[in-house]
Amino acid sequence: MQPLHPDAIKMLVVHCSDTPDDEQLRAIDIQHMHLGFGWDGIGYHYVIGRDGRCEAGRPEFWQGAHVRGVNDVSLGVCLIGRTNFTTAQMHRLELLLRDWTARYPQARVVGHRDATQTDKTCPNFDAAAWWQTRITARMTPVAGSAEMLAKPEDGAALETESLFGESLEVLDRHNGYLRVRLATDGYEGWVKALSLTPASDTDKGHEHRLIIAPAVVVSAAPDVKSRCLLKLSLGARIMITDEQGEWLTIALPTGGSGYLPACACAQLSPDDDYVGVAETFAGVAYHYGGRSHDGLDCSALVQLSLQAAGIACPRNSGDQERWARTAGTIIDASTLERGDLLFWPGHVAICQSGQMMLHPNAHHHAVTSERIDGALPRLANATGSPVTAIRLM
Ligand SMILES: [Zn+2]
Repeated sequence: MQPLHPDAIKMLVVHCSDTPDDEQLRAIDIQHMHLGFGWDGIGYHYVIGRDGRCEAGRPEFWQGAHVRGVNDVSLGVCLIGRTNFTTAQMHRLELLLRDWTARYPQARVVGHRDATQTDKTCPNFDAAAWWQTRITARMTPVAGSAEMLAKPEDGAALETESLFGESLEVLDRHNGYLRVRLATDGYEGWVKALSLTPASDTDKGHEHRLIIAPAVVVSAAPDVKSRCLLKLSLGARIMITDEQGEWLTIALPTGGSGYLPACACAQLSPDDDYVGVAETFAGVAYHYGGRSHDGLDCSALVQLSLQAAGIACPRNSGDQERWARTAGTIIDASTLERGDLLFWPGHVAICQSGQMMLHPNAHHHAVTSERIDGALPRLANATGSPVTAIRLM
């Protein structure tokens, strides 16, 4: 077999097996077929079965045998079937192409029939046009959250996290990462392509709700003893397809359903006590850039707990202070009440009362409740600035 250098890959070619749609072929069947042609084995890099299972064929660093004349500049994937490809298949194809286009950004997606001068009709649909409709689709994390990094590389600094069900607009792709903008607050960062999945576009008519609980388990059945599918935290957004007693059925972006207790997303209003939501995070780990129950920073706690009460605010503490100066009024730090916000350069805390404040912080490495009179001198010293106290209106 001939080697294939990543930089040489200019085309990502979609094929079909052109076998009856009710025939469940696997990669091993294609292997036998292509050995029968006298080839070195399966000619495709991947095969996607009728059930959406994606099986590896040739490694991506070996030239395939799938389009005469362009095997030295292309990768090939084969959909099993002829004309009616299944939803699971098309979903898996989209995930593969998102991964490929993120790793080979110089390559374009084409159907076999468009890849070269041919009278073939493979894959029997306009793959390039279909991909154009998918590439503009919004994305969402596959799991409870997805890290948004400063650079498209492993180990880069954490900018923020996007949560399950939050919508991400794709701006760029590089090195297996997508540059995305989070619809919730406009924050941007690089996310591993494989940690995202297309946001469902079949959600019209279904109710969306926000998770208000600090953390909740999504289970495989409406039963507390059933298997955990994933964990969601405050601020995740779910699409409800059914409601039975205390259990909500939600649609998972990767297909299928999960179940969670309805109390995890009880509605709050701006008049409700957002501080009570923030207080459910006491003891959670401090994590700079974090925005979930696995760990979060000072401004994430402010943003998520205000959001739970229906109040949208920016992501970082500097933007939050500018926003709060407009949305509220500066007050004297001797007149603090529950719900007031305390700002320093690069830090924010939530007043639980005139005496106590709550904040994820690097001093205690956790979300801590402490006396305001003890914390003010320490924070003024650490940040080099006196506190600005703001009451939201
Ligand atoms: Zn083909």
